This record gives sequence, structure tokens and C-alpha cells, in this order.
Amino acid sequence: MKIILVGPPGSGKGTQAGHIASMFGVNSVSSGDLFRDNLAKNTELGKLAKDFMDKGEYVPDEVTIDMVMGWIEDPTHSSGFVLDGFPRTLAQAEALESRLLGSGGIDRVLFFNVDEEALVDRLSGRLICRGCHMPYHIKFSPPLITDQCNSCGGGLYQRDDDKVEVIRNRFKVYMQETEPLVKHFRESGNLREIDASMGINDVKRAIERAVR
Ligand code: AMP
Repeated sequence: MKIILVGPPGSGKGTQAGHIASMFGVNSVSSGDLFRDNLAKNTELGKLAKDFMDKGEYVPDEVTIDMVMGWIEDPTHSSGFVLDGFPRTLAQAEALESRLLGSGGIDRVLFFNVDEEALVDRLSGRLICRGCHMPYHIKFSPPLITDQCNSCGGGLYQRDDDKVEVIRNRFKVYMQETEPLVKHFRESGNLREIDASMGINDVKRAIERAVR
């Protein structure tokens, strides 16, 4: 099963990706997490990505495509996967589609639809676990113990790009670069739209209906 998650930043893709992956017994990956892992390890790729990420801009396609293809080509991911945050441009979508031509293509595209003001509310209160990347929200899904991850005990932090002015720019970039992909995937017939303004459990149930 090869599933991709498309939607604006803060639409809940990261919260649901692990759940969807475990439904199908596959792995999920977030391209943003791959970049952040590189940043934390201070790799050349991390250094290159940092300036773009800090401003809420997209990292150039060549670099992003190489990084995600490297993950997909790992033999442990060959049975299927959930991609969160990739593809985000038409060039990325075409690269992925041509890479998957021989193996049945993309099975499902889930489009997480939610409006800008809800996203600003969500992202400005978001906290992320340093250990396992699990997202929390200070109001909507707080951790059981302040600043500590419920699942791995790691410390929680606010991402630099979850500041209001950067959030607005990320949304603008999303509308310009990624929103056109919705039409592209709708035409392929395997896109399902999820009302991502609902609470976490309702979104989860809507996804279960959409992938079955
Ligand atoms: P995310 O965690 O998905 O919000 O991604 C954080 C940042 O990583 C984005 O604002 C971009 O700078 C970069 N990024 C993640 N995925 C992509 C992608 N598919 N294409 C280009 N840049 C990306």
C-alpha cells in the first residue's frame, strides 16, 4: 500500500501518518522530519535546507527528491509506505509517479482540507517531541506531563517555523506550490478528501473510511 498525504502545514498529516502506517503494516516518513534529522546531525543537506526551512520556503526539488527517493529505495520500505509532506510540487509528484511506475503507482492520496485561521491556531500552539517527533498541542492535545512526550518520555519543543509570521508564509507557499497538486491527483481518481478541521478521532475515522 502506497499512500501519500497532501495538505497545508498543520492540517494533521503528522498526527495521522503513524496510525495509517500501522493499519497497513508499513512505515511512514515525513520529508520535514528527514530534513530536521539532517539539521540535528549538521550534515551538508541539513545546512543547505536550514535557510529555506527557517523562512518557511520549500527546499529545492532536486535535493528533496533525492532525499526522499533514498528513503523509498531502502529495501525495508519496498512493501509500501505513507509519505507525509512529499510530494509538494508538481516536479516532485512526477518524480514519484515515474519511480513507482513499475510497482503499481500510488494507491491513495489523502487530501487534508482545512482553512488558514484554524491552521494558525493549531501551529502556534504545537509542541514536538525531540525523541520520536510526536506532535502535541498546548490546548487541544496537551501531554500528560508538562513538556514531556507521553509515548517516549522525550522533551517537547516549539519548532522555529511555528511562529505566526512564518506560518503565514508557509501557507502562502503551500497555496502557490502544493494546492495545484490536488487537481492533479483528483484527475487520477485515487484522491480522497478529508475534512481535517474535525478533532483528531473524527479525522482518524474519516481516514479509515477513505482507505478501505
Ligand atoms: P514540514 O515538517 O512538513 O512542515 O516541513 C518543514 C519544512 O521542511 C518545510 O517548510 C520545507 O522548508 C521543508 N520541506 C519538507 N518537505 C518538503 C518538500 N516535499 N519539498 C520542499 N521542502 C520541504
